[in-house]
Amino acid sequence: MTVRTRYAPSPTGDPHIGNIRSALFSWALARANSGVFILRIEDTDRNRLVESSVDAIMESLRWLGIDWDEGPGAGGIHGPYFQSQRLPLYQKAALTLIESGRAYRCFCTPERLDQMRAAQVAAKRPPGYDGLCRAISPAESEARAGSERFVVRFAMRREGTTVLDDLIRGSIVFENALQDDFVMLKSDGFPTYHLGVVVDDTEMEITHAIRGDEWISSAPKHIQLYEALGWKPPLWAHLPLILGPDHKKLSKRTGDTSVLDYRRNGYLPEAMVNFLAFLGWSLDDHTSLITLEDLKEHFSLERVVANPAVFDIDRLDHLNGHYIREMPPERWRQVIAEWCEKDLPASIPRPIHPELVAAVAPLLRERVGVLSEIAPLTGFLFGFEAPEYDPALLVERTGGDAGLALRIIDSALLALDRVAGEQWGREPVEAAIRGMEDGLGMKLRKFVPVLYVAAMGRPQGIPLFDSLALLGRERSLQRLRTARAHLEHRL
Ligand code: GLU
Repeated sequence: MTVRTRYAPSPTGDPHIGNIRSALFSWALARANSGVFILRIEDTDRNRLVESSVDAIMESLRWLGIDWDEGPGAGGIHGPYFQSQRLPLYQKAALTLIESGRAYRCFCTPERLDQMRAAQVAAKRPPGYDGLCRAISPAESEARAGSERFVVRFAMRREGTTVLDDLIRGSIVFENALQDDFVMLKSDGFPTYHLGVVVDDTEMEITHAIRGDEWISSAPKHIQLYEALGWKPPLWAHLPLILGPDHKKLSKRTGDTSVLDYRRNGYLPEAMVNFLAFLGWSLDDHTSLITLEDLKEHFSLERVVANPAVFDIDRLDHLNGHYIREMPPERWRQVIAEWCEKDLPASIPRPIHPELVAAVAPLLRERVGVLSEIAPLTGFLFGFEAPEYDPALLVERTGGDAGLALRIIDSALLALDRVAGEQWGREPVEAAIRGMEDGLGMKLRKFVPVLYVAAMGRPQGIPLFDSLALLGRERSLQRLRTARAHLEHRL
């Protein structure tokens, strides 16, 4: 049997972290078993449709390195892969069920349904459709269908139980008495999720349906639909909930935001994959670093746990730092150039100076946690003057003493002016600046923040001696003069 899995997002916005984990696990299961991974767009809720999200879904998958064998852009014999283009299939299934008496047209108006719900609440009865239209005869149903709006409801079995055999959680038993006749086809002719998923998972020959555990309570609906249609269900695996660091349901505030936002904020796909992989799964009891390649080889559902996983952003940051330090030098330089091109102000000439990028690359590695820190840390290197800064920063670490800051700048001007152009480099610059300690009667670490601000427009960053060496003599002295002018202004 070929393993066939799918990721079936609804295009209602950019995919979030919690959701994309289902894609990663489904992909990994298919790859680890030489199977097929399918992307299917479940766009049946026309009110919640966000046009741009199909692109965002595909972009998120591509960014992470999750490739699909069938689906939009890839083709496949089970297409089209947009549910909105498959309506006849759902309508056919609905009709089959109407004919066999397992589904019926419901003509109840929204007003009647509202009243019914209000009465249920008032009587403290569980909510759910009361089954009124079940009693309509086939002939009457047929006749009214020509002129009235209707939905199609599935007639749930109400006696006994329905059992879900979940690959992760084992058997879960549902009391049928608690079920109600859910809508499977809406009045606009679109299926609800329940009908869509059952028809498509069957038609696309899905063997393992992996989805978030918010769908567990829908499983009895799906199981009964399969039974009524005489189809064989896939194996189900409901992935554990992802909780925020506060151990509450993961929310936007606690990190469940768009995957593409993580890319924008400077996370690497390797770090994200590694992070997602361990949200509910483990390779063994000690491995904490894992790549797509490893997942392709070793992923299995046996090691997915049922307990909720905790989303720990510090862990993601840690992984990001790790993969930054692991990057081959060539790629690291490309990444720096890319982020500088993107984030630095238009006043900085493009392309970004490749030699300066190469020179600063090793210095940056240990200092960058997320890639969005690159431009703020290195921007100072590419312009003639320092990036614009608030002159108050120059006196921040001198207790507001502009006179002292001015003495520090003057001392640096004097010391660095003595370093000849052809000698300019890290060591001579260091020696000159260390030599300022005696004259100023101050320790290096007390006065360097002023020089950091003068050179880079910020009180810390890439080590000062390296920075000045990279800036060169002329620009370094010019920046000190500019700082001097700012300080004179304050006195
Ligand atoms: N369209 C559903 C969602 O986005 C799919 C759930 C499933 O994988 O069956 O959550």
